[in-house]
Amino acid sequence: MTNFPKATIEGYPRVGANRELKRALESYWAGRIDAETFESSAHALRLETYNRLRDLGLDEDYAIPADVAYYDQVLETALTVGAVEGETLDDEFRLARGDSEHAPLEMTKWFDTNYHYIVPEIADDTSFTAHPQRVLKLVEEANKAGFKVRPYLVGPVTLLALSKQAEGATKAPLERLDDVLKAYEQVLSELHAAGVEWVQLAEPALVADLTVATDAELADAAQHAYEVLGGIDKRPQLYVTTPYGAARAGLKALQNVDALQVDLSVGTLGLESDYLDTVANLKVKHLVAGLIDGRNVWAANLRDLREKFETLQKSQPNLSVSTSVSLQHVPHTVQAETKLPVDVAAWFSFADEKVAEVVALAAGPLEASNAYAQADRAVRTRAESSRTHDQAVQERTAALPEGQVQREPAFAERNKAQEELGLPKLPTTTIGSFPQTQDIRNARAAHRKGELNDEQYVEALRNEIKSVIDLQERLGLDVLVHGEPERNDMVQYFAELLDGFVTTENGWVQSYGSRCTRPPIVVGDISRPKAMTVEWSKYAQSLSEKHVKGMLTGPVTILAWSFVRDDVPQSVSADQLGVALADEVSDLEEAGIDIIQIDEPALRELLPLRSEDRQAYLDWAVRAFRLVSLQAKPSTQIHTHLCYSEFGQIIDAVAGLDADVTSIEAARSRMELLEDIDEKFHSEIGPGIYDIHSPRVPSVAEIAELIRAALKNVPVERLWVNPDCGLKTRGYAETESSLRNLVLARDEVLNSL
Ligand code: GLN
Ligand code: ZN
Repeated sequence: MTNFPKATIEGYPRVGANRELKRALESYWAGRIDAETFESSAHALRLETYNRLRDLGLDEDYAIPADVAYYDQVLETALTVGAVEGETLDDEFRLARGDSEHAPLEMTKWFDTNYHYIVPEIADDTSFTAHPQRVLKLVEEANKAGFKVRPYLVGPVTLLALSKQAEGATKAPLERLDDVLKAYEQVLSELHAAGVEWVQLAEPALVADLTVATDAELADAAQHAYEVLGGIDKRPQLYVTTPYGAARAGLKALQNVDALQVDLSVGTLGLESDYLDTVANLKVKHLVAGLIDGRNVWAANLRDLREKFETLQKSQPNLSVSTSVSLQHVPHTVQAETKLPVDVAAWFSFADEKVAEVVALAAGPLEASNAYAQADRAVRTRAESSRTHDQAVQERTAALPEGQVQREPAFAERNKAQEELGLPKLPTTTIGSFPQTQDIRNARAAHRKGELNDEQYVEALRNEIKSVIDLQERLGLDVLVHGEPERNDMVQYFAELLDGFVTTENGWVQSYGSRCTRPPIVVGDISRPKAMTVEWSKYAQSLSEKHVKGMLTGPVTILAWSFVRDDVPQSVSADQLGVALADEVSDLEEAGIDIIQIDEPALRELLPLRSEDRQAYLDWAVRAFRLVSLQAKPSTQIHTHLCYSEFGQIIDAVAGLDADVTSIEAARSRMELLEDIDEKFHSEIGPGIYDIHSPRVPSVAEIAELIRAALKNVPVERLWVNPDCGLKTRGYAETESSLRNLVLARDEVLNSL
């Protein structure tokens, strides 16, 4: 039997260095290429990846994970073990994306990352029939090209823990463990027959406090699962991984697997201070130390990490090196960046650079002296750079009061002061963005290429703002927005204008399916050299007698959708963003804007996986938001907007933001979230009244019914009427009809009161 490789990674980005997979997927979905062409480009991309990984030093057998997926890794495992039914490529895409007759499966966030997975639904008649062909094909294709890759599956406990109980099902997914294990057994047996010696099973559910089961229950499930799978007569060796945090009860449950990976990133060790000791004392056959942080973009301090490795080696003689999590969360390579300042470029490590770090860490400073010298230099120059440390910013945040801050006066009094806004009952508004038309995109591209000069570009955007304002006037909305045509993205836009950030040209990361984002990077202390949104808002306001909302992205969302620093706690950057945005609020007030929205759609996203870490996070997150509005005049109405998640867990924190008006996603859950909201929420609220994620136009009757449903829990003086989220992904035709119906529905409800 082959030993476990000395160096490996948990997983690798799948989209391709030039987003080849994204292009192939979208071409196939649009009917521009056929299935065969699609498969062959995906095949070429896989082999290119294997070759690259071997060149980077993953040259031992089974060092390369075959964690490939066309859409999502959970979906592919679910198909492989029959947790969902599908044979063909089109079946897979129908499950992920839906079609005219089928709703897609739900999609939700993968642990505390920005990646989204497809949620399998388990019904009583889900048969768990194994479909090993997919993995066998990958193995065969790799063998032919001279690679012994390691098949990747999401492990049985995690697969079930993340699945949803289908409506009408009498059993919870985790109760089907023995059924699903039979499918895993069959897949493993077939892989053994195909000559595979190592298989990877990812069990990140063991590092999170989930609502479906306790830590102890998940550990019991894991204990049982790996006894069963370990007991198979002829099987590959089992490599089980626990990325994204510290496994607790789960560690013991996994002691008997053939190789066990643990996440030893700085972030995880920061939250779980005795984890390294716990891991050192484990009795395992082979330990794989996830020392290279797969979630950030910083060059590793190799010398420090090597010291940890050597200490660990004393009690764990069979020790290998890996990444803490899959590298799917970072861009492909720093090499693709041509515009980064040279000093900064050396501080970064994306996927390919991290692979090289893993290899250097396993080899040691004698073997890989260059890599260590380079890492030393990066660590030193970064610590000393004036880009990372700005005295003035540090002094300003040091002067802030400690603990929670409070806008004065309290809501009730502000609410009185805001009567002067003269808003009608059940005011109508939208969340900010209007459809991003091809014209806007063309103008942006032309401006970037220098074909449009600054003046012409501003002119094009002003025209767009004017037409959005005119449209809202025609529709009869009460509080208007400028439509955000100047923003490529609600975070990137601010990152480009703030000091302390750098943005990349090619730093794409998969968010879901073919969708990629390009997160900015916080490199140092953050400040605002000049106003960022005021000119646009002022112009929009000059076109209308009605109030136009100023529109800002909040500090938590900016951090959640960026790569953050690892040299200061996130709360430090959050405070800095809080005061920078507070300056923007006061500039907006000065320019005559009296309603300002601070979006925090990602508030829930950063919630720590372990429950005892959550309050500390919510404390600094809420504080950062409050800093933004701290100095706002009582008569300035502060709005916030949240979406993408279940808010039950954080509803106290949402109320704690102390906004005057909160708009929140609710249409898909038919206002369920409002049931217990009244006790906790004293401010005004705009539960999203129609789902903008689909082009369907809601009828007047339907919207009116939802408004009435909301009125059961929220008094009429405190209810707003608005869509679920921004409209930038929609077309104008459906947007106009939907908003017209929204205003009509509001009128109808008002008249019947
Ligand atoms: N104001 C933003 C928009 O309308 C909010 C987007 C969001 O919630 N994701 O686009
Ligand atoms: Zn939203």
